[in-house]
Amino acid sequence: MKINGYAVEKVGGELNPYGYDSSALGDQDVLIEITHCGICHSDIHLIDDDWKISNYPFIPGHEIVGNVKEVGKHCNHLSVGQRVGVGWQCGSCFHCQWCMKGEENCCLHYQPTCVGRNGGFAQAIVVDGRFAFPIPEELESAQTAPLLCGGATVYSPLRRYRVNVSSRVGVIGIGGLGHMAIQFAKAMGAHVTAFSSSPSKESEAMGLGADEFVTEIDKFPQESLDFIISTSSAKLDWVQWMNCLQPKGVFCFVGAAPGNLDFGLQILIAKQRSVVGSLIGDRHTIVEMLKVAAEKNVRAKIEEFPLEDVNTALDRVRKNQVRYRAVLKI
Ligand code: NAP
Ligand code: ZN
Repeated sequence: MKINGYAVEKVGGELNPYGYDSSALGDQDVLIEITHCGICHSDIHLIDDDWKISNYPFIPGHEIVGNVKEVGKHCNHLSVGQRVGVGWQCGSCFHCQWCMKGEENCCLHYQPTCVGRNGGFAQAIVVDGRFAFPIPEELESAQTAPLLCGGATVYSPLRRYRVNVSSRVGVIGIGGLGHMAIQFAKAMGAHVTAFSSSPSKESEAMGLGADEFVTEIDKFPQESLDFIISTSSAKLDWVQWMNCLQPKGVFCFVGAAPGNLDFGLQILIAKQRSVVGSLIGDRHTIVEMLKVAAEKNVRAKIEEFPLEDVNTALDRVRKNQVRYRAVLKI
């Protein structure tokens, strides 16, 4: 089957119309007719080959919502016409220790949706049906696409580090991921501080559930937060935030900012603090996250663009102008 979409042909290039022949449907596969695809900042990193893993030409896009068009003969849990979502990961080995534990996102052989293959800025996609998740009825498709990668990525560590009603959480960077992190942390009952470099985002961040909005980190009290999640795509002075963590506090990187960490180890040792990273979410957590979003009214705030305007949308993401997630309508 011929699939049409928009592909990037060279590092940092514009996207142009592009067609490819999809592989035949494997036994576990599903063919999805895409209706919406969010634009995650990771798509920008891939277009720019920031991680040295991009193979051109390729169609970016990994926050997919669409309808099942065809199922492989062993893909028994999905049916034609069903609405499903696909995120950053669309395959894993299913037999390593991580897959056996239900932590497929740690699988050595995991397959990203738009690395080494074509993603969701297109009419359709074929993926392993085990990575296509039914969307709860209450969730509207356009607002749900960003949950598939961005939502899962922030929900997963908030859950893993047991954020609850007595937690004081800091969210750095109020973009696609950050605005969903505020909502999920609030839904878990936490006191939420939004840290932003954009003063104009204050009233919307408070509307999303932030208790405080901070643009000047140097004036923020030290040793006052339990958990900080950084979603910033740009390098910041991380040490200032580490000092805001209480003893035993956790600083979690999900934003793939460039550069290295550089701080004296006493920042960690003397206060028993931890610095961790987190990658998307496993399948179980994605299903749970969708349920929580439906029940607790967590919704992405989106700007919708027709697929043909993908370059305009990407440009707005690059300039930090989108409030708060661009979604392509296919
Ligand atoms: P985004 O929508 O572009 O938001 C990034 C935010 O970073 C901006 O809105 C901005 O918030 C903040 N920022 C601070 N300094 C900035 C600067 N100089 N230029 C631009 N932004 C700046 O991006 P996203 O889709 O949320 O993704 C954020 C990061 O997470 C990316 O690096 C992405 O690759 C990564 N990511 C990781 C995973 C994972 O599994 N770990 C999954 C998805 C995405 P303020 O205006 O509030 O400062
Ligand atoms: Zn993503």
